[in-house]
Amino acid sequence: SAGRAVAVVTGANRGIGYEAARQLAAHGLHVVLTSRDAARGRDAAEQIRAAAGVSVEWRRLDVTDAASVGEFAAWVEHTHGGIHVLVNNAGVNFNRGADNSVEFAEQVIETNYFGTKRMIEAMMPLIKTSPHGGRIVNVSSRLGRVNGRRNRIGDVSLRDRLLNDDQLSEELINEMVMKFLEQTKQDNWFSSEWPQMYTDYSVSKLAVNAYTKLLARRLLDRPEGQKIYVNCFCPGWVKTAMTDWEGNISAEEGADTGVWLALLPQDQATIGKFFAERREISF
Ligand code: NDP
Repeated sequence: SAGRAVAVVTGANRGIGYEAARQLAAHGLHVVLTSRDAARGRDAAEQIRAAAGVSVEWRRLDVTDAASVGEFAAWVEHTHGGIHVLVNNAGVNFNRGADNSVEFAEQVIETNYFGTKRMIEAMMPLIKTSPHGGRIVNVSSRLGRVNGRRNRIGDVSLRDRLLNDDQLSEELINEMVMKFLEQTKQDNWFSSEWPQMYTDYSVSKLAVNAYTKLLARRLLDRPEGQKIYVNCFCPGWVKTAMTDWEGNISAEEGADTGVWLALLPQDQATIGKFFAERREISF
């Protein structure tokens, strides 16, 4: 792996994460393919390694487990000294079809939002900012848009605060997800206050998007040579296990915008934007 930029992809044993890992490796990066399950992750790394000239290794990582994340960060520091690219892809969704179940809300928020945040907090000190600036790519969803056409949150004041840079804070995001989880426990979450489609999943991605913007604000002022570019993207509706292989595009196409964001030349890289199909979209 000597001389290659290092990329870490979470939840990379299958689906969009696997494709992101494969494509980054094909572009010449050294990829640390991570998964919570050892056998599935090792197999996936082996498959990618079959291509000529690529550099891939597997490492165990469960983003919901603070000890696993800590162990992983220590290993990265010891083995590679740091990384250039972090793709936060690991995610779960238990809704099916029109089902709006929040039975698994805690696991969804814990994985999709807190898992992403936990990884960023652990890896941030290890992100190398030279030669092209560090990259963090968060895999999100259009379902988490504050002003989604069919799926927005009903609380106008919360919506405003999430979109207003001066009012957006880590406390606000945490308050929102904790309030939602509290209501799911009391079984009174079903109100116009929350997104009507895939409610728990949408709240988790809303939180990922808001956190991406918040982090961007902190990173924006970094001087040249110390830049980290954080963005999020929606892969589209992708044929993976998560959608029961419905969807209208392949995992290969779904990973495309994320890989593009990770590899954009520094003079074209953005901070704190939301993308789909390689174009900026609104939060
Ligand atoms: P998959 O279910 O195929 O992949 C999800 C991956 O996340 C799996 O590798 C899974 O591992 C991993 N994962 C789940 N929980 C954890 C955990 N605690 N720690 C580490 N890894 C974990 O779905 P997709 O490829 O479709 O999803 C990838 C990302 O894309 C997700 O963030 C998803 O929300 C997002 N997305 C997907 C869309 C789609 O249409 N498919 C649309 C919009 C966004 P394991 O195999 O062990 O379960």
